Amino acid sequence: MRESRHAIGVDIGGTKINIGLIDFRGHILRDITVPTMAKERRVMAQTIDGIRALLSESEAEADNAIPCGIGVGSAGQIDFETGTVISATDLLPEYAGTPIRAILEQCFGMPVYVDNDVNVLALSELYLSKEERLRDFICVALGTGVGGGVVTDGHLVRGVQGIGGEIGHISVDFRGPVCMCGGIGCLELYTSGTSIARRMGEKRGRLEACVEWSCREVVEQWLRGDTAATEVMEETIEALSAGLAGLIHTFNPAKIVIGGGVADAGEPLFTRLRLETYKRTMPAYCDATRIEPPLFGTRSGMIGAAIQVFRYGGAKQAENELRLKGRLIPWH
Ligand SMILES: [Zn+2]
Repeated sequence: MRESRHAIGVDIGGTKINIGLIDFRGHILRDITVPTMAKERRVMAQTIDGIRALLSESEAEADNAIPCGIGVGSAGQIDFETGTVISATDLLPEYAGTPIRAILEQCFGMPVYVDNDVNVLALSELYLSKEERLRDFICVALGTGVGGGVVTDGHLVRGVQGIGGEIGHISVDFRGPVCMCGGIGCLELYTSGTSIARRMGEKRGRLEACVEWSCREVVEQWLRGDTAATEVMEETIEALSAGLAGLIHTFNPAKIVIGGGVADAGEPLFTRLRLETYKRTMPAYCDATRIEPPLFGTRSGMIGAAIQVFRYGGAKQAENELRLKGRLIPWH
């Protein structure tokens, strides 16, 4: 039997799930997006239905690309060793405890690897970047919530429990509002898509009753120069730059990757963000750290999720070592 060069990548977010058939170079053969339906407690049902739909589509179109495994990147704190959700915020009710790997392995009969969604975003940068020796960088995902992944010397920083890197819950205002995590003034309260929509609603609520805002609308209005949207986005950018400056001083990274739906705002956001971040950073650090969108845009998480299958499944020895140490082995 010929060795399979394809894997399924699944990116489970608070709002939607991206599922793709990916080759070992990170190319997407085909992909679909399904709603997460988190409030309806249908995250795994949606994931399974989505994978089935993708597989039957691939078969019908005669892709001739049978996947050798499934890689999942999921919101929430994930036990990488067991592929189980340790905890998740209220954005994904009753998701904690879900044995993602066991469910999908039983359903599809192939190896499954599960990690935090931003850790797999980091894998896509670590293994698919054309840059020579990109070994120290940080990923921040601004989506329904805010996630983070820190790579130092080619290793993902997992911490003693394997759930480190929660950049969204760094406090950027110790006198700020209380976060759902129990912290005060967390970065997520100012920079997630949810918080952007909420703060815009609060501003407009005084003038227009029952207006529901989406983050995309706020960004569009900001780019058109709307005063309220500008106030919301400037607060977002200042809070994020305060967090990023702290990370730059702590980790001295070559690059900070800002992904997630909010980053779709593109260059206007990145231009302001660089300015505000470098303003808060000691000059000696500024030149070394670039602030950029992900290599593969909003599809980076899905691609990085699939990379797990090639990285861990392809080299059994590396996988065993990985399980023993509970951390990544450098690619090179
Ligand atoms: Zn928090």
